[in-house]
Amino acid sequence: MEEQIRSILKTIGEDPDREGLLRTPQRVSQALEFLTQGYRMDPEKVINDALFTEDYEEMIVQKDIDFYSLCEHHMLPFFGKAHVAYIPHHKIVGISKLARLVDVYSRRLQVQERLTNQIATIIMEKLDALGDAVVIEAEHLCMRMRGIQKQNSFVITSTLLGAFRTRQETRNEFMTLIRQKG
Ligand SMILES: [Zn+2]
Repeated sequence: MEEQIRSILKTIGEDPDREGLLRTPQRVSQALEFLTQGYRMDPEKVINDALFTEDYEEMIVQKDIDFYSLCEHHMLPFFGKAHVAYIPHHKIVGISKLARLVDVYSRRLQVQERLTNQIATIIMEKLDALGDAVVIEAEHLCMRMRGIQKQNSFVITSTLLGAFRTRQETRNEFMTLIRQKG
């Protein structure tokens, strides 16, 4: 990858041999590898490693999970907060794993809609949950830096499954919880 970064530097009009850029191909390669490590992580394994049987059927919410992703159209960052909730049905997963799942899917080339869907779908499938919900609020540098949209706009996406889709009370409870500060 370093050779390719060198040729990109030349293509944009830079001199990859000047002092400040000497180690840039190596740094960019390492950064890209880190930012795309989700491809080398297995979401099923993340869940299965921390799955417990528990007679609990109330809503579990983890909100304000920071995430950083790269948009697949421009390979520029989009980032913000993810809110994840589910209602278990005999099976619960270690709470830190919800944030881990967000990492698994965000550290890839993504579009925000698919990121939201993938997190919701894997929790629903692997936990056999009564329902789950994922809301993501993000800002996209490909919009801001390229000046296409309003500078301070956020994009909000949501996927609601099971009880979160069918029961308005459940949906309202979730929305109230994620809007509370602190
Ligand atoms: Zn983009």
